[in-house]
This record gives sequence, C-alpha cells and structure tokens, in this order.
Amino acid sequence: MPEIAITELSLNDLRDVLSDWGEPQYRARQILDWVYRKPISDFSAMSNLPPKLRESLDSEFSFQSIFPVTEATSRDGSSTKVLFRLSDGNTIESVLMMYDKRRTVCVSSQVGCAFGCPLCATGASGFERNLTPAEITDQVLFFSRCLQAEGGAVTNVVFMGMGEPLVNFEAVWRAVENLTSPGLFGLGARHLTISTIGIPSAIKKLSRKKLQVGLAVSLHAPNNELRDLLAPPNRMYPLEVLIPACRSYVEATRRRITFEYTLIRSVNDSVPLAIELAELLRGLNCHVNLIPVNPTPEFKPPHRARIQAFHETLTRHHVSNTIRLKRGLDIHAGCGQLRARD
Ligand code: SAH
Ligand code: SF4
Repeated sequence: MPEIAITELSLNDLRDVLSDWGEPQYRARQILDWVYRKPISDFSAMSNLPPKLRESLDSEFSFQSIFPVTEATSRDGSSTKVLFRLSDGNTIESVLMMYDKRRTVCVSSQVGCAFGCPLCATGASGFERNLTPAEITDQVLFFSRCLQAEGGAVTNVVFMGMGEPLVNFEAVWRAVENLTSPGLFGLGARHLTISTIGIPSAIKKLSRKKLQVGLAVSLHAPNNELRDLLAPPNRMYPLEVLIPACRSYVEATRRRITFEYTLIRSVNDSVPLAIELAELLRGLNCHVNLIPVNPTPEFKPPHRARIQAFHETLTRHHVSNTIRLKRGLDIHAGCGQLRARD
C-alpha cells in the first residue's frame, strides 16, 4: 500500500514530483483542486488528467490517510461523530456539528493525550502518538466531501477533538496552512480555532504567526490550587505564566481570546470563584464560554440556577461570557468525550 498521503504534500512538493515525472507544472493545481474541493474518493476520478498520470499518482500516493469505520448521528441530527482508522491501526474520532448555517468540524490532533485531565475521556486513554498533517487535514476533507454531495460546505474548523494541538505544533500548523491556503481548502483563518490546555511558549509562538487563527484556552479555574486538580498541566504552566502569555497574545494579534470554563457542580461553580475569575481576567480582551460539564462518574454539571448566577456575576464584573449549549451527548460527541475506542 502506498505510504505517503497526497495531503502530506504542499503545492511546491507536488510540482517537484511532477517535474521528476516530466509532467507540466499546471497539473499540480489541477490535482490539488480535486483533492481539496471535489467530492471524489480516488485518483481515477480526476477526469481532466491523462490516465497515465492518474495511475502514477495512485501508485505513488494514497488518496486518504484516514478511513471511516463507524458513524453515529445524534437524535436531533445536529452532530455526527466518525471513528477513523489510521494506516497503523490506531483510531481517532472527529465530529461534524451543524447549527443554523454553520458546518463545524471538530478535529483531533493526537491519538490520545498525555495530559490526563480528570474531566476528559481522551486523557484517560493515555497518549499514543501525534497525528500527521495529512491525518489532521483529511478529517476536514472527509466531512467536506460528505457535505458537498448535498450541496453544503464546511464553514468552520475547531481543534477541540482528541489531543493537545500545541504539543503537536508543527503538524497542526501545516494542516492549518493546507486548510487556509487559497489554492487548497481556502477556509478563512478566522474560521479556525485552536483550543489548548494552555502552553505559554506555544501561545507565544502562535502570536508571532501572520495567519491569525482563533485561540481558545481551557481554563476551568481562577486559581492554581483548583486548576492544578482540573487541568494538571497547570502544575508546569501556572496561571502567573499562562495569563501573561494570553495577554501578550491579545496585544500581538489584536484578537480577542476565548476561555473555556467547564462548570462542575460544587467544584468550580460558586459566585466567589466567578468574582475571582473576573479579577484574573480584568482588562484582558476575552470571552468566556461557560460549559456545563458533560457528566463523568466523578463530575456532574451544576443546577441551572448556579450556572445562571455564575454567568450573571461575570457579566456584572464586565466579563463577556455565554453559556454554551450541550451538544452531541447522546453519541458521546460532546467536549471531552472523544476517545480512541468505543
Ligand atoms: N487539549 C485541548 C483540546 C481538546 S478540546 C484542550 O484541552 O483545550 C477539549 C475541550 O473539552 C477542552 O476545553 C476540555 O477542557 C473540554 N472538556 C474535557 N472534558 C470535558 C467534559 N467532561 N465536559 C465538558 N468539557 C470537557
Ligand atoms: Fe488532553 Fe485537552 Fe483532554 Fe486535557 S482536556 S486530557 S489537554 S485533550
């Protein structure tokens, strides 16, 4: 079986290959147009290429690096989760979320995750390996091809699936380039969001990139004592380092940052903690997403009145915030519910 996936190649890489094969350079754009924009499933469907070239592509490259195994759609039809097998037998999950006109793909960046946050099913399965740029890109292309078949299109991509994207920075960034390059997938950078548990050096690196994707930081607590428990990487990257990195990100990019705050009953949902959070974020151009925890054996979401009180306290203290609806729970496709095996 061919080893290299076609989405592993940049436009220039492909041009080099074509010149080795004695093919004209303009073929590179034609090929990538098929790969990134058309609902096809193999090289043989590239009808404007000579048959010999299609055969060479087929013997040299694989058309896709991930293979769908099972699919589940939530009862309300708004979320579809797909389990993919990778060429080494590992598996990952991705989710397509459909609300109003948005078609958002939630992609994984690693098989498992090394950080083991207690809320998160991905962390519980341990870390296996980083995904390649092609394996990340192909998650989006899979859903894009499905949507195109019905006249639709992917409008947003969020790195909120399995894994910590900023630990796999180079591959994630190559996938971001594939997804945003006008000659490739062509999504606006503002329609992409990277979610991180909060790695200050990588946040700084991100702020130096010209291409400005959205950044979401999984905060969950306004002080180190609580955050050490809910987000263990906090022991390495405590708030006094993380928050200044977020402030410099906002200054360098002039973009608002998002904080994810998972609300857990009797753990981090009190009004004094909301006030402490407002203090921590004072003067920072940010938005807080309040996410009632998707239940685990250990953690339950707060009652509605507590969630409302937390929300109102933040608002009163001038912190822009919204309560995020629960989605895809019946198929275990909600935040922190993705894992390698069902
Ligand atoms: N590693 C990155 C990207 C994964 S995103 C990160 O942690 O940000 C996964 C998101 O789901 C994170 O915001 C995480 O905190 C959240 N999450 C994990 N378990 C959850 C649960 N049980 N309920 C709600 N959100 C959860
Ligand atoms: Fe990893 Fe993020 Fe899950 Fe923590 S919440 S275990 S960092 S995927």
